[in-house]
Amino acid sequence: MASFSISQLSSPKSAEIHLLPGSNKPIFRRRRSITVRCCERKKSYYELLGVSTDSSSQEIKDAYRKQQKKHHPDIAGEKGHEITIKLNKAYEVLTKEDLRREYDSSIGLMRLGATSSWKGPLRPEAIFVDENACIGCRECVHHAGNTFTMDEAVGTARVKVQYGDDDTQIEISVDSCPVNCIYWVETEELEVLEYLIQPQPKEGYGVFGQGWERPANVFVAAKSFNKQIKRKVENQKRNERPTNKE
Ligand code: SF4
Repeated sequence: MASFSISQLSSPKSAEIHLLPGSNKPIFRRRRSITVRCCERKKSYYELLGVSTDSSSQEIKDAYRKQQKKHHPDIAGEKGHEITIKLNKAYEVLTKEDLRREYDSSIGLMRLGATSSWKGPLRPEAIFVDENACIGCRECVHHAGNTFTMDEAVGTARVKVQYGDDDTQIEISVDSCPVNCIYWVETEELEVLEYLIQPQPKEGYGVFGQGWERPANVFVAAKSFNKQIKRKVENQKRNERPTNKE
């Protein structure tokens, strides 16, 4: 899988963009520091189930059933017992969006599409909270609790379901935000904005300088990020184009 660093951007320095071979679909992955391990690497839940990190819920369910059949203690004997416990845990985490997001984050993976969901059909405009500016007053959640939620860990609001409430309630929420940090954005911009606004680990030296960071201006960062993706896709297409000699 090809990857390139976006370290020159104002977006988080610890991220990389990957393109699946034969696909223009980008996956963002956080760059992780190198660690020396004394033991064999533990398989991720994705590896346990034999699915890719961008698999849909249905693909995960199918893979889980297949693996369960293969390792069921009635078939695989005693050694299958431990594996089925691990498979159950992997299934439980990867089929619940909030648990999957948390898990992805813990292994340094960020999936596009792992953020807000939609109630009803896609619309041209989506709702986005600039969490850099949010002061955590909860007004939006109070007026439209099916659309907005508080991230209690960081004390800011974000959108959990696009248009989870009726339009009037959403408009009241937007209007009641005291710092005007709820934006209407083009739907196609949403995934990158939601990806970039999530705090990402920053590089440091030993215990110094480590922590979490977000781009100071998420809209500017998203523009640069989109340009990088476009360039990456064009390069990939160029590389895949057959030459006359072939
Ligand atoms: S109303 Fe605005 S400032 Fe208050 S929690 Fe919601 S997004 Fe944040």
